[in-house]
This record gives sequence, structure tokens and C-alpha cells, in this order.
Amino acid sequence: MTATAPRPDGPAHLPLRWAGGETPFVLWHFDFDGERWAAVHTGDLHDGTPVPLRIESACLFGHVLRSAQCDCGYQLDEAMHTFARQGRGLLLYGIDQDARGLGIAAHFAIYAMRQQEGLDTEAVYRRLDAPVDARSYEPVAAILRHLGVDSVRLLSNNRRRETFLQEAGFTVERAPLEAPLDVHNMSTLMLEKEDLDYAWSFETHADWLRPLQESVLGSPGCSRAYAVVPGSGTAAGPLAAAEDDGEWRLAEALAGAMPAELPSGPLVVYLTDLPRADELAVYAGLGAAVVVVPFAELPGPLRRAAAAAGVRLVDWERGNAYPVPRPQWRPVAEAGGLTAYLREDRLRLVPADGSAAALDDAELYCRSTPERYREVRRHGRWIELLPAADPGRAAADLLAGLAARPAAVPR
Ligand SMILES: [Zn+2]
Repeated sequence: MTATAPRPDGPAHLPLRWAGGETPFVLWHFDFDGERWAAVHTGDLHDGTPVPLRIESACLFGHVLRSAQCDCGYQLDEAMHTFARQGRGLLLYGIDQDARGLGIAAHFAIYAMRQQEGLDTEAVYRRLDAPVDARSYEPVAAILRHLGVDSVRLLSNNRRRETFLQEAGFTVERAPLEAPLDVHNMSTLMLEKEDLDYAWSFETHADWLRPLQESVLGSPGCSRAYAVVPGSGTAAGPLAAAEDDGEWRLAEALAGAMPAELPSGPLVVYLTDLPRADELAVYAGLGAAVVVVPFAELPGPLRRAAAAAGVRLVDWERGNAYPVPRPQWRPVAEAGGLTAYLREDRLRLVPADGSAAALDDAELYCRSTPERYREVRRHGRWIELLPAADPGRAAADLLAGLAARPAAVPR
């Protein structure tokens, strides 16, 4: 990347409609060996005071289509409104910097992986074998020099940009520009804070998960949950908290702990352990739009159950991972309205609709083949089994056998 500015295209003089009126702006186009940048500014850039500066990476999804999953549209609007209101400012726009520098094709791949496979942003970039931030700011420095700007007021929460500009010899003061956190943009913004050191003011998923996880360390039978209003601080505490000590009824406990007056917006539920598939609908019923667990991978049946319940299930195993493996009840097979969960060598069989009749059937069936199980124990709403052989295989065989049975079972 060359740091010298080539001869730009321009100037184009444009009246731009921002902040309820028309403001005269000047537009330039730069080409750095195929990497294209636009500069658009208004007012006097050389009056001796720092120039309000916003650096934007292209985002077709956010800037043009107004996607709610990133804050790009909000940030561009805020910066341009500020420039128009103050009659002064400079926007540098990296036309080829979609998806933090990977390009627009990668941006589509990222959306597909996030939506179809439920991967978080960091996992997606790992899959693409790409750095989470591949952007170079050399062209920014070159354009600023070309325009004769040496002192800026950077509208950004990205400390890397600030550091880069300072190291490149510019005088920089930073002014925060933060989009309101919501359930759509939270994963993107929290990744920026945790992995890219953005100076966002809100708590991340890890900030909520870490104390929850510490509270159950060494207690594999104990699970905990928080219901949280997005953007509220950990100091204020969660909206509701619940604990379950081996009853496997955490969702019910959280429902019982919710305040009578619920806030109007969607909530986030944080869990120390994987939920049962049927619990996701309970969390959705409490007003949760997002359920976050501290694990790297989510079993397919859980992802499908989340989609059916209308909640987003988010894996957030980052700085907050458990120091020792914590065995989880993972759904491994589904058939005939039953879900089989596996934890180490034990199986649990749960009817999706809580039907006692389905459990009666299943219990009868398991007891009819005693050679397959060393133990069959009926609980209120599930059956726990200790298979004689490979438990993963046993789960699939059991559900296939149940589903293949003749329908008429006398009760
Ligand atoms: Zn975006």
C-alpha cells in the first residue's frame, strides 16, 4: 500500500440533505492501487481547530439497506448530521472495506454462516481464516495529508484508529459515537468491544456470564440464569435471577422470579448451562429475544428449537470459558415428539410437549428391553437411562424403536 496520495477525482460539489436542510459538501475520489476511498467534507478544513472526522468502512447492508444487525447506518447518520449541523466536518469512506476489509463477497458468506449455522462473528472469521479486522488506514493518512488536515476530532469508539492516526503524526482527540445497543446489533458490537478494544460503554455478554459461571464452579448439578434488560449495567444487577439444583427446571424458576411489571423491550437471558430444547419457548414467553450460553458450539436440535421458539441462541465462549470441562445435557436425537439428551454415559428422554402419556409409553418400551439398560428411572417429566452399551448409539436406537412401534399401545 502506497502512502502517497494519487491525483484524486474531483472535486464534485454536492448539496447534501442532512439535518433537515441542504448543506454544500465537496466530494473527492481516491484510488490507491485499486483500493478506492471517497472523501466528503463541508466547511473550512483549515481554520486552525481540529476537523471533525469520521472514518467509515463500506457496508452495503448497513449504510444502504439499513440492516439492524450492525451499527453502520446509525454511525454514518450521526456523523453526517453532526457535520451538517456544525457546518464543518470530513468523512473518509473506504469503498472496498466491506466486512472490515474482507470485501462484499466475504460479507455475504459471513451472513450465511451466522444465520444458517448460528456461528458468532468471531467463529465466522476463524472459519474464513481471516483477521477480524483486516483494514489498513494508510490511505486515511495519505488523504488527510493531501487535504492539508493535521488535527482532527475523531468521531469513533475505535481506539485502533486513534492510535494509528497519532502514530502517523496527526493530533487526535476522540469523541465517542455509540449506537444504542439492541438485540440485533449486540453480537457485532460486543465482539468489537471484546476483540477489537472498542470503547463501548455497555456490558458485554461475558460481563454478565463470568460472575454467573464463577458462582457454579465446582457445582456441576447447579445451574443459574439471569434475565437482563439489554444495555443495563451489571452494577444494577439483572432483572431476575434463578437457580436450579439438579431439578432441571431452571426456566420455570426464572419465570417464577420475573417481576410482575415487565419492561416493554426484548430481554436477554444468560445461562450457565445448555437449556433443554423445550425451555427455549419458556424463555421466549418471558420476553427474551436472545439466550446466551458460555459454550463454543450449539447442538443442532437446540438451534432448531430456538428458531421454532423465535429466540436467538448465542454461543459466547470467549474470555469467559469454564476452566474445567463442564458436562452438559446435549440433545442428540429427536423423534416422535421425544428428545434424547446425553451427558457422559447417561441419557434423558423428554417429551417436547411435556406429555405424561408419551413418557408412560417410552418407559414401558424401555422396560420391555431390560438387556439394553442397566438402569431405568422415571422422574416427573423425564426418564433417565443408563444404557448397557454406547449411549450415543442407544439414544438413536431408542427413538427409532419408539417411532417404529405400532401406534396402538394399550394403557
Ligand atoms: Zn455494517
